[in-house]
Amino acid sequence: MDRSIIHVDMDAFYAAVEQRDNPSLIGKPIIIGGASDRGVVCTASYEARKYGIHSAMSAKVAKRLCPNGIYLPVDMKKYKKVSKEVRGIFQRYSNIIEPVSIDEAFLDTTGNDPIPIARKIKKDIRDELQLTASVGVSINKFLAKLASDMDKPDGLTIIRKDEVVELLEPLPVTKLWGVGPSMERELNKLGIYYIGDIQRYDKNVLISIFGKRGKEIYDFSYGIDHRPVEDHILNQSIGEEETFREDIGDMDFLIDRLNSYAKNLSKELKLRGYLIKTITVKVKYKDFSVETRSMTLSIPTNDNKDIFKIGKHILTTRFNFYDKIRLLGLTVSNLIYPEDPIQLSLDI
Ligand SMILES: [Mg+2]
Repeated sequence: MDRSIIHVDMDAFYAAVEQRDNPSLIGKPIIIGGASDRGVVCTASYEARKYGIHSAMSAKVAKRLCPNGIYLPVDMKKYKKVSKEVRGIFQRYSNIIEPVSIDEAFLDTTGNDPIPIARKIKKDIRDELQLTASVGVSINKFLAKLASDMDKPDGLTIIRKDEVVELLEPLPVTKLWGVGPSMERELNKLGIYYIGDIQRYDKNVLISIFGKRGKEIYDFSYGIDHRPVEDHILNQSIGEEETFREDIGDMDFLIDRLNSYAKNLSKELKLRGYLIKTITVKVKYKDFSVETRSMTLSIPTNDNKDIFKIGKHILTTRFNFYDKIRLLGLTVSNLIYPEDPIQLSLDI
């Protein structure tokens, strides 16, 4: 039996929530996350996107493109609350939900007609939360996500099995799951620009060049994706990061910041009932190059002292600081529900 998978992506989520809560912002270019000059844009309202502003752009560049934009700080607490409300709507229609990020999730609705479900989800989100979502419906995660991206905002796009190969053929390779700029360059070297070029390429050659990844992109080019919708949070991570007002060379200061991130993360883990196994420290240098280092524990924890201790160990022993740093981050991943017997049978 074919699966039916729905991908829901909230439209300009943070900006839409702010516009909903403050109607004077409606119709204006709103940029969330660019309140400080050293920050990065998290979300731009559709009005702001017309100026060329997009997420992950530096606030400085955004302000150059749109000096009259309204720049707001990130109110994570508020967005998390709304995200939870959205998730509550999903739970009415499926038991198998995989959150991808705060504003995006997959639902597996196999066995039921996904199209009326997708319509109801959009309606509930609109009626109850006064927000819009773009929804994609298809037979797997890759195609459902591709579909939700095809008609934004407020779209509902269905990709049917019998149209997949033809639909993918003219699209650029970057539409394939996980093909970013560096993979795109590698593919371009082989004369591959469109998904159709991959469809016509020799699968074994792709595998010999890219290994497992080669098989994956070949399969994706035909719309084949067997990954399940994973209804647990193990692939998720929770993190804190901070761009400093000025570049920092003082290790004691960094250790102190790490301690405060560890406290926040521990609080959140306890609130949500998770333990973690992996701790990652991220450093962005003055020249914007990024390094991350991780450690995986044998015993999971949610204790702030454990998280801090390991984070400090990573920070002080695993990096070679060649320059001052502008950003420090601490992320925990490999999340575990302690009461979940399947997870407890893993190597803990
Ligand atoms: Mg979104």
